[in-house]
Amino acid sequence: MSTQVQDTQEKRVHDRQEDIKLYINGRFVEGTSGLTFENRNPFTNEVINSIAEGRSEEVDQAVTAAKRAFEGSWGSMKLSARMKYINRIADLIDEEVEEIAYLEALDTGLPIAQTRKMTARAAENFRFYARMVQTKLHGESYPVDDEFINYTVYNPLGVVGLITPWNAPFMLETWKVAPALATGNTVVLKPAELSPLSANKLAEIIHKAGLPEGVFNVVHGFGETAGASLVAHPDVKAISFTGETTTGSIIIKNSADSLKKTSMELGGKSPLIVFDDADFDRALDATVWGIFSFNGERCTANSRVLLQKNIKDRFVEALKERVANIKIGDPLDPSTQLGPLVEKEHYNKVKQYIELAKEEGCEVVQGTVPEDVKAGNFVPPTLLLNATNDMRVCQEEIFGPVMSVIEFETDEEAIAVANDVRYGLAGYVWTKDLKRGHRVAQAVEAGMIWVNAQNVRDLRIPFGGSKDSGIGREGGHYAFEFYTEPKVIHVAIGDHHIPQFGMKK
Ligand code: NAD
Repeated sequence: MSTQVQDTQEKRVHDRQEDIKLYINGRFVEGTSGLTFENRNPFTNEVINSIAEGRSEEVDQAVTAAKRAFEGSWGSMKLSARMKYINRIADLIDEEVEEIAYLEALDTGLPIAQTRKMTARAAENFRFYARMVQTKLHGESYPVDDEFINYTVYNPLGVVGLITPWNAPFMLETWKVAPALATGNTVVLKPAELSPLSANKLAEIIHKAGLPEGVFNVVHGFGETAGASLVAHPDVKAISFTGETTTGSIIIKNSADSLKKTSMELGGKSPLIVFDDADFDRALDATVWGIFSFNGERCTANSRVLLQKNIKDRFVEALKERVANIKIGDPLDPSTQLGPLVEKEHYNKVKQYIELAKEEGCEVVQGTVPEDVKAGNFVPPTLLLNATNDMRVCQEEIFGPVMSVIEFETDEEAIAVANDVRYGLAGYVWTKDLKRGHRVAQAVEAGMIWVNAQNVRDLRIPFGGSKDSGIGREGGHYAFEFYTEPKVIHVAIGDHHIPQFGMKK
């Protein structure tokens, strides 16, 4: 680690931040209405700053600017010039990793050791799409005898609306912004109201990278107003959404009038299955990391762990020991493993689920929150033992550091339990039996399954969920299917037959 990074780490404190504005048409502006909302620090529950609130008027201004930019220089820019901008954004993110990671930890309560990694990944999102667009965004050609060549081209859609959640804000924003811009669209981003800071940092970076005005816009505000206006706007061609399943459903309904394309990355209740032949220690590490990293506010979290009967007691004892030792504390402390939940309301919701688990018959085992951080929204790492899959705590997404522990005996039972849930985002299988690993992975209903692996992801693979966890896939070249539209061009290279209607006999 460089001395410079070490120095900045040491200085990190829970500072008040400057108030932030909207970013529309290349300018940081107050909303026309002058409305603002407060942004709070989950560690102290004190106000960090005040945020300009956009509503339909500001969304309209941003969409108008984005439309003009699309019809202007951005839309006609040469690929190599566009990619220079995309790579420049990646470089500028790299230069500001420490500042972005800090803002993210301050705003969301995510431990800074984890936000640093997320931020580095965000830069890679831009670099990756610069490469992908140049190598993989190409059409096909279909020669038809000596008469025709049909070929396809992939065009950007125009203005796309990106609506993002608070659980990994910067990573998820860039996950959408990078392919949207790289494929030639212009963007209006509506970040989550609970985590606005890093979105403005992205706006600053894009501003510094010198993108033409209007190509990228940020409108802060609430879902029901700013978000809904973006969804309803007739000049927005597509909405890429990440968030709760119920919100996704509302957005699909609201986008119907303007016939928008939508991409839905939604909630999860993912199973992690540990068979008795698994590598015990690695399975344990992955289980603990998969639920307690990102404070448990992770869409692909293994919130249900299924343990085979023979190893259950030993595994549970090991889980209890880990839970007791997870380092709970200040998200700005680089040694913290679990920070506070994003806001009081979400904290209360998670606490209520823990009470419900007791009512439903679970034994609840928790770590201990240190006295000196009690002002924050801390929920200790929590195990819900003796859970059965029909309990609400096993069926509903809690979105906190809470994991249900369910026993099973056979492969068939594990698969049935894993699948008996409305969600289908992710799944994890731990076994040394290769055949079983593949068989179970193929049988579990989810968009993404890891076998003997924690949630590591290559950017080339499709990302998304099945069942109520989503519609469509982003990631890799799959994002092109969403952010571009194919057009086929039929060219005659011979004199094919054309029927002669209306000819005189
Ligand atoms: P949320 O649905 O409450 O909000 C997400 C975004 O939608 C916010 O920006 C919000 O303002 C906006 N929104 C709310 N109502 C809207 C409306 N009517 N019209 C338009 N926009 C609206 O989700 P959240 O609480 O911010 O995030 C947590 C959820 O996100 C969890 O369910 C989690 O599983 C899910 N998630 C999914 C993935 C994935 O890739 N599948 C990744 C991360 C998070």
